[in-house]
Amino acid sequence: MKIICIGRNYADHAKEMNSPLPTEPIYFLKPDTALLKEGDFYYPKFTKELHFECELVVRIDKVGKYIQPKFASKYYSQFTLGMDFTARDIQQLCKEKGLPWERAKGFDHSAPISSTWVDKQNVDLENATFQLFQNGELKQIGHPKDFIFSIDQLIAYVSQFITLKTGDLLFTGTPAGVGPVQIGDTLTAALNGQELLSLKIK
Ligand code: MG
Repeated sequence: MKIICIGRNYADHAKEMNSPLPTEPIYFLKPDTALLKEGDFYYPKFTKELHFECELVVRIDKVGKYIQPKFASKYYSQFTLGMDFTARDIQQLCKEKGLPWERAKGFDHSAPISSTWVDKQNVDLENATFQLFQNGELKQIGHPKDFIFSIDQLIAYVSQFITLKTGDLLFTGTPAGVGPVQIGDTLTAALNGQELLSLKIK
């Protein structure tokens, strides 16, 4: 199982990061040990600036390579919400030195996801909204209709380079509003008003 994450898929987040809009999808991988399905999250010792990035997550249902956009929707049937935890201080150093992002984004438990999945026929992506709350305060609002690259385009793009397998997860990028996490925080995420994820930071 691998975790494929998309960077800069919302114009408002690219702007808050002072990053240019991508002309083709940007992706990076997290290892399977990044996954956190249940339990608390422990603030890692190697960063002083851990950020939350709430994202819509797609589960890949079958093996595929060179998937055409028009067939991409046959490769997934469920969504959930997850967090692309990012050590922003380390990411900034990596960016300045032109180094890979794995140390900032691919560490253990950097990808918590909800254990509740929602069938795609029950989610109208044109009208869907997801929200991230930090200690009950609304921090991020995401509208998948604002994706720069659609899920189908992302699947087609990534599958040119790597074979997608059953159980792989696609994190589709984060909207604006990312921010620092503190020990003691509770992060909750809801899709169309349904709370899917609740995470305590210890
Ligand atoms: Mg992200």
